[in-house]
Order: sequence, then structure tokens, then C-alpha cells
Amino acid sequence: MIQRPRGTRDLLPPETRLWLAVETVAREVFASFGGEEIRTPVFEATELFVRSVGEGTDIVHKEMYTFPDRKGRSLTLRPEMTAGVARAWIENRLGDRSQPLRLFYLGPMFRYERMQHGRYRQFSQIGLEIIGADTPLADAELLAAMHEFFVRLGFTDLQIHLNNLGDPEDRARYQEGIRVALTPRRAELCSDCQRRLEENPLRILDCKVPACQVIAADAPGVDDVAGDPSRQHVAGVEAHLQALGIPYVRNRRLVRGLDYYLRTVFEVVSPQLGTNAVLCGGGRYDRLIADLGGPAVPGVGFAIGEDRLVEVLPARFKDAVLARAALYLVPMGAAAENRALELARGWIRGGVPVELEITGRSLKAALKRADRDGFRAVAMLGDDELKAKTVTVRDLAAGNQSAVPFADLPAWWQALPPAREAARPE
Ligand code: ATP
Ligand code: MG
Repeated sequence: MIQRPRGTRDLLPPETRLWLAVETVAREVFASFGGEEIRTPVFEATELFVRSVGEGTDIVHKEMYTFPDRKGRSLTLRPEMTAGVARAWIENRLGDRSQPLRLFYLGPMFRYERMQHGRYRQFSQIGLEIIGADTPLADAELLAAMHEFFVRLGFTDLQIHLNNLGDPEDRARYQEGIRVALTPRRAELCSDCQRRLEENPLRILDCKVPACQVIAADAPGVDDVAGDPSRQHVAGVEAHLQALGIPYVRNRRLVRGLDYYLRTVFEVVSPQLGTNAVLCGGGRYDRLIADLGGPAVPGVGFAIGEDRLVEVLPARFKDAVLARAALYLVPMGAAAENRALELARGWIRGGVPVELEITGRSLKAALKRADRDGFRAVAMLGDDELKAKTVTVRDLAAGNQSAVPFADLPAWWQALPPAREAARPE
């Protein structure tokens, strides 16, 4: 049997309902903050990621799906979305539009990673970018939209970690500071970090190896060497968050795994996730578009890992989405079968989700299935009902049965109490 490639997943119903619900909330929330959706290609020129994400990063160094196409061009399945958005911004001259642009996206990303729980080779991200504003207020608005999204899903236990990564001018000094602090302990670092010590010492702070994390704790904080402009910027973001009552913690070791970030960087952590606890990462990238050959346009954004998000969705949100609320229409006999689809279409147009019995089950078998699959109600349609232009409906939660005229069915459905209330004993 052919199996799916390592690190990929089949998302099956009913879990796909959770994905759809989460994506619907994302679209609603981000649109209500002025966001518009952007869709870019799933593969891009390899060079784009090398130049933006950065050569010394794990993503570029060892996680990219890179392949030559039939004409020998090097292409890469996108490992993240910000680079593609920046490329699209330049290529489509989005700078000619009124600024800023708030762009959100949803879709699959690809990284060749070691398989672990919560870590896949194809995974999905939901993200938002604000391009064309460099103020602390822009960062705060971005974080407010993100926070609103999590609140809408019912989260109460997520933690926002925030740091100042300084400006690129500070970076060399900071890299040197880490190199000086950690070189004496070089031999204790993992082989990746020994390489990072030469190439990109900052990345050591992001290493997942526990021993490296202990050693990294000796590195100086970025803020200690950052210049005033970045400090003032992040202080401004913090003031806005405090005024909004959005809780966060200052994490001086937070650096993020992509090279284009500067100033504000943040992560959202779920205490419910074990080793791969980071649900969302983001930050400011004021030089990215210029580095890719565009004009000097600032940006700030985040990406939420949807696979991990769905895994820790609050029970209330999940239960509400998973409670099947359809009407099960069971035709009995040939005449009823002939009318059933037309009736169903009318009710569907009236706002009733209708699932028609199409396999020819007997009424007895259909009622059994209705119970097992958790339908809200069953509508039975036989010759008598056809003649009377009524349908016999059974409220499965309350256990009662009545006759409802065809035309009144949508109103009857809307008036049904939620299953849990209907079942409450008097
Ligand atoms: P990690 O530190 O867990 O490797 P990252 O810093 O590489 O994450 P980002 O590039 O910031 O991750 O991506 C944003 C979010 O996307 C992450 O916080 C995570 O929730 C999700 N994500 C990243 N890589 C994967 C993956 N391989 N499988 C599932 N989700 C992922
Ligand atoms: Mg990673």
C-alpha cells in the first residue's frame, strides 16, 4: 500500500470542521482590523528564502524542500510566508496603493524537519502582516488583532513573550557579545551550535538542545547592547499593550529563527503543548523589502501554527463546532424519494442544514443511525406526509415528535432549543 510521505498528515472529518471554524474566525477577526487576504505561490525561487530568511538559519541550512524544475531553475516549497508576501509586495508594486496594507494569509508551509509530535513537514500557518507602518502603534495593533483572534477561540492560558532584538546596527555587536561569552564553553555546545558560534551566534539562543539552552542563559540580553531607537520603539509597544490590558512577559533570550527580524519580536506559548510549545511567532522586519530589492518599507507580522493551534483549542469552542446540528431527512417509499431532494433544497435555502438519507435505509435503521451520529432531529417523509404536505419531525434531544407543514420547517428548526437544553430533565 502506498502511504503518505513522512511528516504529512491527512486531516479528516470531523476534525476538518475545527480547521474550517478556526480559519473562519481568523478571516473575520483580521478583516475587522482592516486586513485583506493575500495568496502567493506555494513554491518560489530558492534565492528568495536564502536572501530573506537567511543563510545561517536552520530553515535555510537544513529544512528547505529545494529542487530543480525541468529547466534547471532552483525552486523551494515555501517554508514560511513573509518572504513571499514581501516579494509579491515588490513585484506587484503594492507601494502604489495607500499605506499601510494589512495582509493576512492561510496555507501550507513545508520544512524538512525531524518528525516529532507537533512538528510536521507540511504544516499550516495563519498569519497577518502590516506593511507600510513603522510605529509602535502598528506592532500593538498587530498584537491586538492576534490577541483578539485567540480570545475569540476561547483561549485564556496563552502567554505572549516579547523582546527587543535591536536594530541591524546593533546586531554585529550583539553577535560578538555572545561569541565572547560562549566561546569558553564551545566544547559543551551541540555540533550545530559550534557551527553557529562561527556563523551566527544569535541562533544559539534558539537551539532546542537542553544543554545548549543552559549555556545560552549565560549570553548577554539583546537589550543590553541595543541602541536607543529600538529600545524606545519596544517600550512604546509595551505601553500600548499595558494600556489595552493585554498581558505579556518580557523574555530577554527570545531571538526567533529568522534573520530578517529587528526591534520587536514575540512568541505565543501554550502551556498545554509539551516540547513544541510555541503556537505563534512574529516580529518587525523593516529592512526585508529593501533587502529584496524593493523600496525601504517597514513591516511587522506574525505566523500562527494551525496544526498546534487546533491541537490545544479550548473545549468549549471545540464542543460547539463538533456538535452536529443537522436535520436528517428520511424518505420512505418511491414517491417520497422523488420529492425529498426538492424539499431538502427548499429547506436548505431556508437555512436548515439537511442531510438526506440516500442509501435506502429502512426507517428503523435510519433512526438507529440518527442516534449514533448525533443528528439534532429526524424528518420522516412517507405517503401520508406527502398527501398532507407535512413532515413528521422528531426532536432527538427532547424525544418528542410532531407534524410540521413543509413550508414551516425552517421556522420550526430555528425555534429548536440547543440539544443540551432540550435534553435537560425538568
Ligand atoms: P519552532 O521553534 O517550533 O521550530 P519556528 O520558530 O521554526 O518554530 P516559525 O517559523 O516562527 O516557527 O513559525 C511560526 C509557527 O509555525 C510556530 O510557532 C509553530 O507553531 C508553527 N510551526 C513551525 N514549524 C512547524 C512544523 N514543522 N510543524 C508544525 N508547526 C510548525
Ligand atoms: Mg523551526
